[in-house]
Amino acid sequence: MSTTVQRSGGFPAGPVTGDEPGGQVPATALLIGPHWRAGSTGAAFATRNPADGRILAAVAAASEADVDDAVRAARAALTDPAWAELPRPALARLLWRVADLIEAHADELARLETLDNGQPIGVARTVSVAATAEHFRYFAGWPTKIHGSAGPVADPGVLHYTRREPVGVCALITPWNFPMMIAAWKLAPALACGNTVIIKPAEQTPLTTVRLVELCREAGFPPGVLNLVTGGPEVGRALTRHPGVDKVSFTGSTAVGREILRVSAEHLTRTTLELGGKAPMIVARDAGLDAAVQGAVQGALFNSGQVCAAYSRFYVDRARVDEFVEKTAALAAGLRLGPGLAPGTDLGPLITQEHLTGVDEHVRRGVADGAELVTGGRRAEGELSAGYFYEPTVFTGVRDDMALAREEIFGPVIPVLAYDDADDLAARANDTDYGLAASVWTRDVSTAHRLAAAVRAGSIFVNMLHVPDAAGPWGGFRSSGLGREMGPAAIDAYTELKGVFLNLRAEKSEEH
Ligand code: NAD
Repeated sequence: MSTTVQRSGGFPAGPVTGDEPGGQVPATALLIGPHWRAGSTGAAFATRNPADGRILAAVAAASEADVDDAVRAARAALTDPAWAELPRPALARLLWRVADLIEAHADELARLETLDNGQPIGVARTVSVAATAEHFRYFAGWPTKIHGSAGPVADPGVLHYTRREPVGVCALITPWNFPMMIAAWKLAPALACGNTVIIKPAEQTPLTTVRLVELCREAGFPPGVLNLVTGGPEVGRALTRHPGVDKVSFTGSTAVGREILRVSAEHLTRTTLELGGKAPMIVARDAGLDAAVQGAVQGALFNSGQVCAAYSRFYVDRARVDEFVEKTAALAAGLRLGPGLAPGTDLGPLITQEHLTGVDEHVRRGVADGAELVTGGRRAEGELSAGYFYEPTVFTGVRDDMALAREEIFGPVIPVLAYDDADDLAARANDTDYGLAASVWTRDVSTAHRLAAAVRAGSIFVNMLHVPDAAGPWGGFRSSGLGREMGPAAIDAYTELKGVFLNLRAEKSEEH
């Protein structure tokens, strides 16, 4: 791909329209310390629009030397008085200003997210952009409130108090499914706690992160506090094994999360891991069926099922399962697939051809395992065939031991399982490696509380969709992750706790 990498700034603020005449596409740069620059090798890679496969931009490929430079810049900024001694209210205002800038650029950011990720523009605007701004606003409230505490220790002659200090240099590694929003889940609390950061977005969807970092710089964060490196897994690996990185916050697949945890053992690098999921949705006999059907379709198919907390196995009372399947299949089949920018689009494409092939393999295996395919089950044809569109798919007659009920598919697939005995539900929901989210649909408050307590998952949603909130903890049990993001838990995750012991008697005895 022949293109000139822009060296003086990041992504151009103008609209991105796809392949441009003469093969020229916009180019992005790395941010290292105060400088936007090309990667040291000059290499770049393409990011594509999943709705039509066309190249959107040439993205600077960071080398190991660039990662090293970024870590050094972040380390130097950590003790720079411009950052280390920034008054807390001023830090709060910087974070608030980022939120203002996100809102001022909402249309541009939403369009960019839709082009790079494929999500419908309404989702990009009302979920991705809105939640990104909301995260910065929520965490803008924290710098002025992060504090330690004083309390008694055994010796009454000793004053003891705690301090919450930044962990240090944080490597933030994000996935492609909600690129900008998940970047904000990490950037906002990391910065609110006084850390310096190096962010590495997913190679499939880097564009909104580049723009978000530009907006953060525009807000006034000092040079070196935020650094950006773009590239694939090798750039992530270079970051996670770098001895100058104090903390890794990773969102992505469980397999990569395990690798990061192994690598982090070398330097005991702090890690937060937000990993895969296989969220059960339990539809109790007394549930409002139409509401549950709506919840199932939206909970499973939102962002074409490319959601870590997507409802992805459905336990429905046998007395109601036929009605549930019929209504769910009708609603799912009626959704309109299309490019995210096209008016009326309900579902956008999957992220890549490779991912579409993986989703289709899951579907083929489900059929081979004996599940009944009710609707969907194939790639969309016709005018959508240049993109990675997959029809919403509903299976019934799924058993607990089938891969459809056990493996994360990350696509628009609804596997329905019947249950006869409500007392088995918690055990069946818990019979999984994962534990990120779960959902219960019931009108009975005791069923809701009983299952909320019995199901082992980081978030339980009763009669509602899986909507994270900046104020509530987010993370997984078991193979869904380690640690929590959001809410006060994020402040713990991005600070080290220090105890100070002060001998009150020593001073006194020397005076006499
Ligand atoms: P992925 O693990 O393939 O990649 C995620 C990021 O890690 C990318 O930036 C990638 O370049 C980088 N990476 C890849 N290999 C690496 C390595 N060895 N060392 C360091 N970095 C490496 O995941 P993905 O396909 O981009 O995202 C989908 C997955 O993310 C799904 O499993 C989904 O459930 C999960 N996810 C979890 C949450 C959550 O909050 N728990 C949220 C969104 C997505």
